Amino acid sequence: MLLHHISEGLILFRCQQLCFLRLILRWGKTGVNHPMGKNMIGAFHQPQVVLASVDALETLPDRELSAGLAEVVKYGFIYDEAFLCWLEENMADLVARDSAKLSQAIYRSCEIKAEVVAQDEREGGIRAILNLGHTFGHAIEAKQGYGNWLHGEAVAAGTMMAADLSCRLGWLSREDVKRVENVLVAANLPVKPPQDMSASDFIELMSVDKKCWTGNYVWYC
Ligand SMILES: [Zn+2]
Repeated sequence: MLLHHISEGLILFRCQQLCFLRLILRWGKTGVNHPMGKNMIGAFHQPQVVLASVDALETLPDRELSAGLAEVVKYGFIYDEAFLCWLEENMADLVARDSAKLSQAIYRSCEIKAEVVAQDEREGGIRAILNLGHTFGHAIEAKQGYGNWLHGEAVAAGTMMAADLSCRLGWLSREDVKRVENVLVAANLPVKPPQDMSASDFIELMSVDKKCWTGNYVWYC
């Protein structure tokens, strides 16, 4: 058992087969997947403590570590450009499991998540930025079957799709899209959706994702 997720007296134990980085960055909500979509059923419980053993990362396969880094990179994109720059400079060391740098990355990611969640516990406003890459990503997971694409891998490809869409809409420069791609590639993450998924697959699956509001697509995702 690697993680004690303490929430209003409730202690959840997570096992090491799951994506460690994703779990420690995922507090505040507990969700259950449903055939209609990911995390369709759940509850809000804010943790009192977040404990992370960086040594435990040694036990993870490389693919799981990279999947967790997709969520770490997200915090740079959505909230803290200085952190993004640090990630760009240090990604090779993070992938190589430099424990001091992993600690730094996890700590800052947790700080950013806490800052965002504190502003919007129930996801009515700014908390939605935490969904970057997730609406596209959840569609990938649903279509491919949960677990075939790891969550972080789907989020990475979804983040790339969101960046590309933003660029097409004139909200993001081509240079910034390249920056998104470069840091995800450096983390050994996929930057293209599965070849067997069509635009209509995405539209259908995204329309039932819980992160879409009343049928309107949330394009920052
Ligand atoms: Zn996620």
